[in-house]
Amino acid sequence: MKQYVVGIESTAHTFSASVVTSSGDILSNSKNVYSPPEGSGIHPLAAAQSHMKAAGQVLERSFSEAGVDASEVAAVAYSMGPGLGPCLRVGAVAARTLASLLQAPLVPVNHAVGHIELGCLVTRAEDPVVLLVSGGHTMVIAHSGTRWRVLGETLDLTLGQLLDQFGRHAGLSSPCGRNVEKAASESSTYLRLPYSVKGNDVSFSGLLTMAKGMLDSGRKFSDVCYSIQETAFAMVSEVCDRALAFTGKREVLVVGGVAANRRLGQMLEVMASRHSARALLTPTEYSGDCGAQIAWTGSLAYACGASVAVSEAGVRQSWRLDTVDTPWRR
Ligand code: AMP
Ligand code: MG
Repeated sequence: MKQYVVGIESTAHTFSASVVTSSGDILSNSKNVYSPPEGSGIHPLAAAQSHMKAAGQVLERSFSEAGVDASEVAAVAYSMGPGLGPCLRVGAVAARTLASLLQAPLVPVNHAVGHIELGCLVTRAEDPVVLLVSGGHTMVIAHSGTRWRVLGETLDLTLGQLLDQFGRHAGLSSPCGRNVEKAASESSTYLRLPYSVKGNDVSFSGLLTMAKGMLDSGRKFSDVCYSIQETAFAMVSEVCDRALAFTGKREVLVVGGVAANRRLGQMLEVMASRHSARALLTPTEYSGDCGAQIAWTGSLAYACGASVAVSEAGVRQSWRLDTVDTPWRR
């Protein structure tokens, strides 16, 4: 019986393809990451062009690493959204082409749900409060009934955008999170920045403006990086703290590109221990955008009968995760 699902991710800077088995073995997870010129953010058309160039090779590499023949593929999953229109369309075209060639069903996947389900697979989380922190999202989420539900979110910038926009202001190339983390680890001087938690929501725009101003007025880059991390990570930890208290869940799972940050992981561990809960940190290989999040979630959805006709396999630039049914979790 055919048991492999291919997943294609292309929502933003990453074009990636992965092959997984229906029991959750990740056989390959190849990617090509578009990097914008120094000092600028992602240009959607330039990223889409980079994806177009990379698509064939990334797919080939993914099949050869997995050691799977295309004829053994049960379904082709792809990121339908949310994301940047031109980038999403490259992934959708690649998926439609592959599905037509292989005469395999097409399974659309919500990118954010993909981050969560892959995080659950690789950390063995069962019923977590989820902190999704990436370039495109900052949300605190838990599953209830038939869907993942948003308990709190950012009112303006995402945590990834905060780090990237600050880094670019300092002249770094996007994505800047790793460089901000490295600089922060060289300081322990805290400069007071706006701490803005409103109910269960967070806001980072005031923090970004003040941090940029500090840099312009000559404060040390490492001190500002340290202060941004301490403030912003404490804010999202506070919301997770409240979510654990409210839901009584015993796990907090962090997913999305910012999950790679060690200081964020430490803060969540301290917070979770106060609830006798476990902090589950998604390993870096699987925390950022990748094909495996789409292949695995596509595999779960396909097992529940989800698929669309090639003619319906479009893209949805804005597609909230709390509108997506998750029959595999019933
Ligand atoms: P994603 O959209 O899930 O691929 O995540 C990309 C985001 O993760 C970008 O905003 C990066 O700056 C951020 N990121 C990657 N590594 C780190 C890190 N070590 N610390 C903080 N942010 C990071
Ligand atoms: Mg993402």
